[in-house]
Amino acid sequence: MLSLPAVLLLAAVLATLWTAWRSWALPPFPGRFNFVAMQLSASWWATAAAIETIVPAPADKLFWAEMAWLGIVGAPSFWALFLWSYTREELPARWRLVPAVVGTATWTAALSNDSHRLMYTAVHPVSDVPGAALVYGHGLLFFVVTIYLYAFMVMSIVVTANGVHRATPAYRTHYLGFLVAMAVPWVANVGYVTGNLTLFDLDPTPFSFLLMGAVFYWLITRRRLFDLLPVARDALLDAVPDPVLVLDADGTVVEANPAARALVCDRQPLGRRLAELPGLSVLSFGTSAVLPVPLTLECDGGLRSFEATRVPLTSGGRSGGGRSGLREVGCLLMLRDVTHRRHAEMRLEDTVRRLDLARLEAEERLVAEQEAKRALKGFLSMTAHEFKTPLAIIDGAAQILLLDAEVKAPGMLPRLEKIRRAVRRQVNILETCLADDRLSDPAFALRRDPLDLPALLRAAAAAQGDAAPGRRIELDLKDCPAGMTGDGPMLELCVHNLLNNALKYSAAGSPVRLRAWIGEGPGGQSELALSVADQGIGIPAEEVERVFDRFFRATNTGTAAGSGVGLNMVRRIAALHGGTVTVESRLGEGSVFTLRIPLRGKALCEEGMADMPAE
Ligand code: ADP
Repeated sequence: MLSLPAVLLLAAVLATLWTAWRSWALPPFPGRFNFVAMQLSASWWATAAAIETIVPAPADKLFWAEMAWLGIVGAPSFWALFLWSYTREELPARWRLVPAVVGTATWTAALSNDSHRLMYTAVHPVSDVPGAALVYGHGLLFFVVTIYLYAFMVMSIVVTANGVHRATPAYRTHYLGFLVAMAVPWVANVGYVTGNLTLFDLDPTPFSFLLMGAVFYWLITRRRLFDLLPVARDALLDAVPDPVLVLDADGTVVEANPAARALVCDRQPLGRRLAELPGLSVLSFGTSAVLPVPLTLECDGGLRSFEATRVPLTSGGRSGGGRSGLREVGCLLMLRDVTHRRHAEMRLEDTVRRLDLARLEAEERLVAEQEAKRALKGFLSMTAHEFKTPLAIIDGAAQILLLDAEVKAPGMLPRLEKIRRAVRRQVNILETCLADDRLSDPAFALRRDPLDLPALLRAAAAAQGDAAPGRRIELDLKDCPAGMTGDGPMLELCVHNLLNNALKYSAAGSPVRLRAWIGEGPGGQSELALSVADQGIGIPAEEVERVFDRFFRATNTGTAAGSGVGLNMVRRIAALHGGTVTVESRLGEGSVFTLRIPLRGKALCEEGMADMPAE
């Protein structure tokens, strides 16, 4: 028979099923499974209670009262598990077995009550009216299960009360809503079990689900329960490794995460003004302060560096007077732990200091080295000059002896010639040394001599020929320009070097050919073209480009004496004259070095000097 209590209970069922469905459809939130399981358990309980009122026969009523136990056990225990997961941490899924196992066991025990009477000792209708509610005499198992259920309910209250205490104002309403929703079934159940509080002669607890459903309806639709994930927010704040503080408009700390609490001696910053907190008081500046502010705090026994950032918290309101109508209701202080960065910066500063010191030392050493080099150069050039004088005397004396010997002692002639060649070779080496030294001098300037080119080339070839007895130097000067302007000694040195190399790096029997002609430069201008060809050892292909580098010697020079300075000097002298020197060579077959120098115009150009590679 559909009565008012039955209608109310079915309404409670619909309300709880609706909240279960709404909650399940929400994005996942902590404890969602337990929350929905609680709603379903409550629906089960209320449905069984509704059927109990509808069916008239006492035996049927008892059956549905026994059926209700699955929901009776499930509702409070899933509720406690949900609260724990929601306010603290998500419980592992195995905890769901507790309500499932205890609920099923109690349910089975209730259904088999006839055989043991542990749940209900006696059951009789409250009146003689057909379909009247039943009055139950409770057995031992009933009280055991009740204690179990009350333990969960007490746990729920403690967990929720703790949540109310810890929550920030924005989320406190949620916890208060939980408390109210919980309190109603609690009061109803305690009243029923202890003081025979009944509604329509029935246990009032299932009816309270109607109110509970209404509270949750309001929380979910109006307060956006679960949407804002307050617990997640708390967890987020707790998980942030850097200290975060929330201050109200008076500068009182209303929220602080564990990292922020660790900065306060007694770890209790809540409710205290920031200005009173040692160390942190420096941050109680006005809103105009420029941030981020660096500060050093003692923390866990060590000094740590932080950078504080202040984020104003605003709220809509008429009293603010700001342009946007927002007024500042507090602020968020975020301290970023920059200890590692500070240490790294300090290490970097230290390294930069040491590098600076090293640079200064290196500069000092460089200056000293340049000084020493200059002194050495001076010494070398002085020595070279000193050597040239006695060599000139030796050569002069040898020439006189040579004249005498032609008449008086012809047998002496070869030896005297040998002396003269040795002297000339020595003078050549000294000239190269001095020229290299002079070329390195920034103040060096080429001479502009009118040159008799054929005479200059013949003299150079003769000198080299003298120095290499038995060697043949073929001269081809028929197209040679008659004259040009240039630095005579320097050009002579070039020819000497090229001829000397050709003789040095070719076998005794092979000829060396010196040819000079009027060539045509890239711009069509006339140029002196001069080639020195030999049929000697040649240069390895991969090293050809490098033979003009200072001090470079090819890998196939063997025991031939040399310093790797000559060709570099030739290139620099050619460049100073606005010209070039190139080489074509085949390993084992010979080499041709070609010197090209413009005859007019830029013959002694400054560009050449600018192009000259720095040594
Ligand atoms: P070095 O004093 O060694 O002769 P150079 O500057 O005159 O120095 O020459 C550089 C290098 O170029 C030589 O060591 C040699 O390997 C190579 N080279 C120069 N001229 C010739 C040549 N005519 N035939 C083969 N190799 C040569």
